[in-house]
Amino acid sequence: MAVKSFRGGAHPPERKDRTSGLPIEYLRGAKSVVIPVNQHFGAPLQPLVKVGDQVKRGQKIADADGRMTVPVHASVAGVVKKIEPRTQSNNVDGPCIVVEADGSDGVDFLAPLDGFACTKDEALARIREAGIVGMGGAGFPAHVKLAPSKPIALVIANGAECEPYLTIDERVMIERPGDLVEGVALTMKIVGAPKGVIAVEENKAHAVAGLEKAVAEKGRGFDIEVQLLKTKYPQGGEKMLISAVTGKEVPSGGLPMDVGCVVQNIGTLVAMVEAFREGKPLIERGLTISGAACASPKNVVVPIGTLVSDLVAEGKVEVTEAELGRVIFGGPMMGTAVPHYAIPVQKNTSGVLLVSKKEAEHYVEHSCIRCGRCMRACSCRLSPALLNQALVAGDWEDAEKIGLLDCVECGTCSYVCPARIQLVQRFRVGKQLLRAKKQKEAQNACK
Ligand code: SF4
Ligand code: SF4
Repeated sequence: MAVKSFRGGAHPPERKDRTSGLPIEYLRGAKSVVIPVNQHFGAPLQPLVKVGDQVKRGQKIADADGRMTVPVHASVAGVVKKIEPRTQSNNVDGPCIVVEADGSDGVDFLAPLDGFACTKDEALARIREAGIVGMGGAGFPAHVKLAPSKPIALVIANGAECEPYLTIDERVMIERPGDLVEGVALTMKIVGAPKGVIAVEENKAHAVAGLEKAVAEKGRGFDIEVQLLKTKYPQGGEKMLISAVTGKEVPSGGLPMDVGCVVQNIGTLVAMVEAFREGKPLIERGLTISGAACASPKNVVVPIGTLVSDLVAEGKVEVTEAELGRVIFGGPMMGTAVPHYAIPVQKNTSGVLLVSKKEAEHYVEHSCIRCGRCMRACSCRLSPALLNQALVAGDWEDAEKIGLLDCVECGTCSYVCPARIQLVQRFRVGKQLLRAKKQKEAQNACK
């Protein structure tokens, strides 16, 4: 099989060996959960329950009208104890519904639905009602992604999992290949795509045989193939994945549908299958817990809203406190550093890293030596050194002109920079400020 790739990128240490061989542990016995009301990209939700209410597992507990909304469901059966702001994995305080489990195990799932026999509208309604979002990134509503305004020729299952440490997608590909393949077929049916590709990085080549067998047995005759990709960061970024698999470039400011593609996360595909087959909303998810300060690294499935601190208190995760340097939700390249681990697992939490002081070492920033490494590594074909120069000078016009808003914040430039310049950190803040500036200008123009 030819191994495909994209232009640019880097090879940070993989550090996956601690968990890649460990089967997924299902830790479903949470005594209480802290469920963020807003876990999706879009308009905010309102709680549908109040303190003291009894809820069942799978019961809808927050929702709102509007296309860019996705409901949230109770992940354990029990009693609503509090509705209050708590720190979430994006480091922002937001409303959360605290449910204390009562051991009743009451379940309130949707009725099963045959996704291959129902209409497209029924399928999209099911995906929304089940609260499904993209589980690998910003939590984009899946029912919106699967209703593109342009024809789709290809569905890509994103099995790159290029972030160091993370191995949960790898384990799903090994342990649940049939469900994954069914999810790809279901997505192809919904968007009308004639072709599907499961894209897997070479460091997970051992999953390919199982996936190909599953395509033959569970693919329902859909044209699905498994494609190996070079192991390189950020292979799992949507634009890089599309470039590697198809050779096409998503245009600046564009979306995968502009080149006829839909990209789906591995966890999302399996969650979709469960939402149809069992009527199960998105109430639990798999993630990798690792890092040098974690003495018991593992791949787990936990109810949404599980506090990492509860897993530690219950002895399910061991932390070497003296070594702990930083807690990161997500991978080390694109994840968010949070102040502590009393933070809930959300729909988009692919990993929790308890990194050691040595791993979290801070570096002193030096002056740019114009080596050009950042330019060669940037898979979005940007000039990070020039972007940095524009931002330091406060030249917003220039920063926008040379592509600040096209930066996907992958952090590759920061990783390769010998001067240790905090490039991506500056770009993240710069993008937010530039968007706010443009919004203000647009409002002023309307006055
Ligand atoms: S963070 Fe932005 S500028 Fe840096 S390599 Fe990634 S896309 Fe390019
Ligand atoms: S990699 Fe760092 S030092 Fe080299 S050109 Fe880019 S910003 Fe400058």
